[in-house]
Amino acid sequence: MLLSVVLSLVNVKARHGWSDKIFTSLLQVVHDLLPEENTLPKSYYQAKKILCLMGMEYQKIHACPNDCILYRHEFEQMSKCLRCGAPRYKVKDDDDCSSDENSKKGPPAKVLWYLPIIPRFKRLFANGDDAKNLTWHVNGRNSDGMVCHPADCSQWKKIDNLYPDFGKEARNLRLGLASDGMNPYGNLSTQHSL
Ligand SMILES: [Zn+2]
Repeated sequence: MLLSVVLSLVNVKARHGWSDKIFTSLLQVVHDLLPEENTLPKSYYQAKKILCLMGMEYQKIHACPNDCILYRHEFEQMSKCLRCGAPRYKVKDDDDCSSDENSKKGPPAKVLWYLPIIPRFKRLFANGDDAKNLTWHVNGRNSDGMVCHPADCSQWKKIDNLYPDFGKEARNLRLGLASDGMNPYGNLSTQHSL
C-alpha cells in the first residue's frame, strides 16, 4: 500500500515537473493530515529511499557533453574528455578570481541517468500474475509446431543450443532490440536513417 501510494505521488511529481522542494512540502502536508502513526515519507529523499527498495534505483553518471565518454571506471577521476577535450564540469560564472580549481567547479556538463536493469527484472517477478506471464512460453502454451511466439523461432532455439544452462531456465529473460529512426553516423543533416 505504502509503495503504491509513494509511486503514484512520484509519478504525479514527474508528470507535472514539480521540483523536489515542492514535492517535499506536499508530502509534509499530506503526512500531517493523516493519522499520527502513518508511515508516509516526509520528504522526497525518504520517498526515493522507499522506491530504491523496490528496485527502482538509478545512478547518475557524468558524461562528456559531446557524448564521447562516460566518467566511470578508468575515466572516473578525469576532469575533461580525453577525446574532445570538453570540460566535465561547467565553470561557475562569478567574479571570484580564486585560483583554486575546485572552487570554480560548477555542476557537471552532462549527466546520464542510468536505470540498472537487473533490479527491474527481479521486480517483474514480484507480482504473481506477471511472473506467470513471464514463463508462459514454457509453462502455459500449447506448442503445436506452428510459429506463434518468438520461442518457436530458430533464433530463440539457437540461443537454447548455444547456452543450454540459460535456455533450460524458463525464468531467464530474453531481450529484443528494435530501433527506428536511428542515425548511425551522427550526421543529422542526412535524409536517411535506419
Ligand atoms: Zn568528448
